[in-house]
Amino acid sequence: MKITEYITPLKENIDKAREEGKTVVLVPTMGFLHYGHLAMVEDARKKDENHEEIYIVMSIFVNPLQFGPNEDFNKYPRNLERDSRLAQEAGVDMLFVPSIEEMYPNGKSLTTVNVFTVPDGLCGAFRPGHFQGVATVVSKLFNIVWPDAAYFGQKDYQQFIVIKQMVTDLNLPITLIPYPTVREPDGLAMSSRNSYLSKEQREQAPVLYRALQEGASLIDSGEKRMEVIREKIIQRISFQTDGKIEYVEIRRADDLSPVEIINGTIVIALAVHFGGTRLIDNIIVGV
Ligand code: AMP
Repeated sequence: MKITEYITPLKENIDKAREEGKTVVLVPTMGFLHYGHLAMVEDARKKDENHEEIYIVMSIFVNPLQFGPNEDFNKYPRNLERDSRLAQEAGVDMLFVPSIEEMYPNGKSLTTVNVFTVPDGLCGAFRPGHFQGVATVVSKLFNIVWPDAAYFGQKDYQQFIVIKQMVTDLNLPITLIPYPTVREPDGLAMSSRNSYLSKEQREQAPVLYRALQEGASLIDSGEKRMEVIREKIIQRISFQTDGKIEYVEIRRADDLSPVEIINGTIVIALAVHFGGTRLIDNIIVGV
């Protein structure tokens, strides 16, 4: 595995791989890697077995543009030494770890990418400017790497839909590969932010997924009223944890438009604060 902070050598290496006929796959992350990140690399690596030669680029960049003023940009966990070892073991070919200056040479980007309506509600309602920061940095990474395909985790479901909309609207010739949420054995969605949790919070956090599963089984057993399911989930989390619910919402899975009576495939998404730690999770349910 090669590792670089700079765009020029990154592009040279990618060009070489492309000349060798390899398919370039991008896995963008903010680092502090866990198996949710590495599973995407392993999945991409598997395509080699189908006689398609894959060149995997992973980026690690904690993007200041997507953090609000009172969010955890400064304390976001970072450990490049551990990350590079894990990335190499998982099969990354090129690790791109740019500095803020390399990504934003003028200190900021005067050009931003805005996807409209999709960021309304859910995380977008509570993190103003977040998805603009995400869409901008992902556009930059796409333009730097110019991948054939890019992986995005379904754990950040709204992020995936925002990027999907951007790729469609801007005719970007990039195949998006959504990857199912990887969980701890007790159901908690893996996240770099789980490292912030106290022992007690960590013990309570799996209730989020259990509440989502309960919502899904209510739908399976015939309940179609969005509000009834939403209330059940809210009750369970409020009774069984000290978490402060930011939102629990049920939306259509394809475009995140609101739904009152459930039909078609929906996503139940939530965000809950455990002390200073904000956790998100979701479940997709087909009716
Ligand atoms: P992050 O480093 O948290 O920005 O995540 C980088 C990428 O990994 C995003 O596409 C996330 O959706 C994805 N990801 C993060 N956690 C998980 C998880 N538990 N399972 C699957 N994908 C994940």
